[in-house]
Amino acid sequence: MIDDLVKRAEERCRDLRLSSVRAWKEKTGMPAVGYLPIWVPRELLHAQGVLPVGLVGAGQDLEIIKGDAYYQSYICHLPRSTIELGLNGSLDCLDGMLFPAICDVIRNLSGIWKMQFPDKYVRYLDVPQCFERDIGGTFLRRELEELAEGLENIGARPLDLDALQQSILVWNRQRRAVQELYGLRSEQPWRVPTSELYLILRAGLVMPVEEHLSMLVSYADAVRADDERRPMDQARVVLTGSFCEQPPLGLIKTLERSGCYIVDDDFMQVHRWIKGPIADEGDPLDNLVDAFLHDAIDSPTRYIDEGDKGRELVERTRANRADGVLFCAPSFCDPALLDQPMAVAAIEAAGIPWTGFKYSEDTGQFQVIREQAGTFADSIKLWS
Ligand code: SF4
Repeated sequence: MIDDLVKRAEERCRDLRLSSVRAWKEKTGMPAVGYLPIWVPRELLHAQGVLPVGLVGAGQDLEIIKGDAYYQSYICHLPRSTIELGLNGSLDCLDGMLFPAICDVIRNLSGIWKMQFPDKYVRYLDVPQCFERDIGGTFLRRELEELAEGLENIGARPLDLDALQQSILVWNRQRRAVQELYGLRSEQPWRVPTSELYLILRAGLVMPVEEHLSMLVSYADAVRADDERRPMDQARVVLTGSFCEQPPLGLIKTLERSGCYIVDDDFMQVHRWIKGPIADEGDPLDNLVDAFLHDAIDSPTRYIDEGDKGRELVERTRANRADGVLFCAPSFCDPALLDQPMAVAAIEAAGIPWTGFKYSEDTGQFQVIREQAGTFADSIKLWS
């Protein structure tokens, strides 16, 4: 049962031509819109009948032929593979693309997309860095209203507030199911290997939310019922820095095999960007806005006062009873790597051991990371 679910999830993750999205469009006749990490208002798309399709690069499964020509060498890998997927036709089933404000690379990618695919709907989704309701909130509400109008122009239903309310409830259920799995992994990490949880979450980027919810529940039931998995003497670690470009699956497996139980991480952050359930009373558009302003996780892509940087990471490390922190970021990822010194300072001040390394989505050699993570795990078990 577990193996079947994980296999099904992996197939979805590796289906770069998005055949399930094509099938969904054929069945429903509604548009599908791609989005880059990290946050987009998927509830709003859902309410308008649009399938949100999360894109996180192509991993190791695609040779980059043309994508490199669009960017200088000293940037991350994700935009190169995303362009490659666009140019080779893999994404032609998408009626539009949303580029949330993550970093300059994504901003530039939105401009490239506009020039390269003039027939597609392309929107750079700007988000506020001021979290006061009447400033940042007013701005974000206007952004969402404009987005809803833009989606209508490509065949989506007009935004209806009752429908949005219902969609918020559905996504709240999905959010809760994800949080429960994270809680279960933190309690009993041997039951929920991160390499499996990662695939289950990633598959949700290309599925209707209702289908993903069912997969999450089935997986949770299956791992709870499985008595064959036994605890091992591994170090409990929090992994941070991998919120956008994702590491290869092999790297996650390598970390687990090197003696680490990953008890919290920031993979697939879109599923956990909003911490709690979004309010289900009052104006749902305002509720979406308020959740973004006041109930989002800390992220390097979000303004946080300098004195507060790293505080949330320390809290998460303690809440998950982790022995240490792995700073695991994509090479050349400005948001992750510029934040890292401040986060390290907070972690060191709290007396928490840490180590760090970088990766690219197509990294193929893990031996050095295995030795580093293994040594880190051993030293924690021996001396912490
Ligand atoms: S990996 Fe980092 S630098 Fe690259 S697109 Fe994502 S946030 Fe930007």
